[in-house]
Order: sequence, then structure tokens, then C-alpha cells
Amino acid sequence: MITDEKTSTNLNRIADKIKAAERITDDEGLFLFEKASLGFVGSLANYVREKLHGNKTYFNRNFHIEPTNVCVFSCNFCSYSRLYAHRDEGWELSQEQMMDMVKKYDGQPITEVHIVGGVHPKMNIEFFAEVLRKIKAHRPDLHIKGFTAVELDYMFRKAKLSVEDGLRMLKQAGLDSIPGGGAEIFAADIREKISADKVGTEGWLNIHATAHGLGMHSNATMLYGHIEKSTEVPQ
Ligand code: SF4
Repeated sequence: MITDEKTSTNLNRIADKIKAAERITDDEGLFLFEKASLGFVGSLANYVREKLHGNKTYFNRNFHIEPTNVCVFSCNFCSYSRLYAHRDEGWELSQEQMMDMVKKYDGQPITEVHIVGGVHPKMNIEFFAEVLRKIKAHRPDLHIKGFTAVELDYMFRKAKLSVEDGLRMLKQAGLDSIPGGGAEIFAADIREKISADKVGTEGWLNIHATAHGLGMHSNATMLYGHIEKSTEVPQ
């Protein structure tokens, strides 16, 4: 990447801020995204990482449970899900099948189970609270990261629970943190095109903010790629 003098000065000024542990602004973040090379951003990220954790690196040993790929939504980038009407083409795990998956890792140094899948109209909050309780009863040390904000939003609305009450209920049952799926792209015009019918930006952010308020960690997952014209949602 060829960088002119002004750009290089600005990049170094941002780098100095990061090294001085000062928070950068949104515009500076955007400037890094647009003008800096991947190596430059990577070296800054590594600087912060080493400052926080020295020469240590942490690994998460996890396994996944995908309870179902049946989904009430129809995001147009998703080739994974099946509508309820076509559920015979997909899968729906019972609680016993999920527990068999957990038990397969007995005696192994696993640290986390990640539970995420489609939004099944009949797998409700009680069903999943029961799954969480069974996992924790079997293996209390296992960190449970589960359910995207998309799944949670549907679960809570169906149970007529507020976001806070729903999250409290799942937390009490054993949920430790929530994954970042369902964020994809927050820009309204793009979100409307790729996943018009699931929880919007505000709802997604509210679920994560509420989870943070209850002491749970989360992340956000951005998807990007190319959508074939023929698969676009009809306008
Ligand atoms: S909500 Fe998730 S599983 Fe359902 S269609 Fe969208 S991306 Fe696929």
C-alpha cells in the first residue's frame, strides 16, 4: 500500500494515541479502516494485546451444539436453515441428544459449549432453560455461550418476557455469555436487503447491552460477502 505523507502523519498520530492508551474516535477508527494496511492495524492490535497480557495467549477449547436448523426467518444469505414447513429436510435435536453430545466430552479438557442454531417456533425458553440446567448439572465448570440475539428476541417475545427478564431466566438456568451472531450488518438499508424479518439493529444492541448490564459478556459477528441477484429478497 502506497501511503502519502499526510496519511502517514495521521496514521502515526493515531498509533501514538493507541500507544498512550488513549481512546481513538470513530473517525480515527474509520481512517484506519480506509487507509492503514492490515499489517499496520495488526501491529497496533498486537501492541495492545501484549501490553494487557504479556507473552500469554489464551485458547478456548469448545464444541458446538446446533439444536436445529429449522428457522422462522429467511435471511437471504442463509443456506443452512429450513422453514418449518420443510422441517423434514432439517434436524431438531431432543434434550437427550444434546446431552449425549455434552457427555461425549466427559474427561476431556473442554472449556466451553457454544449453542446456536435456527429459530425454531416450538423450541421455547422453557425448553432451552431446561437444557442449560441439565448441562450445568452434568458439568458445572463448562462455560455456556448460547443463543444469538435473533434467537433470544424471538424466544422472549414468544414467552411475553422483557429482554431483561428473559436473560435473567436463562442466566439463572446456566447461560454464561452470548455469541455475536445475527449482527451481520447494522446499516439499515443493507440489513433490510439481507435479513428483513429478524431483529433489527436497535433490538440486537439492546439485548447485548442488557446482557452486559447483567454481567454477561458478548461479541458481535460481522458477515460480509456477495449476494447473487437471483437470491435477493423480492422488493
Ligand atoms: S435467523 Fe439465522 S438460521 Fe435463520 S435464516 Fe437467518 S441466518 Fe439462517
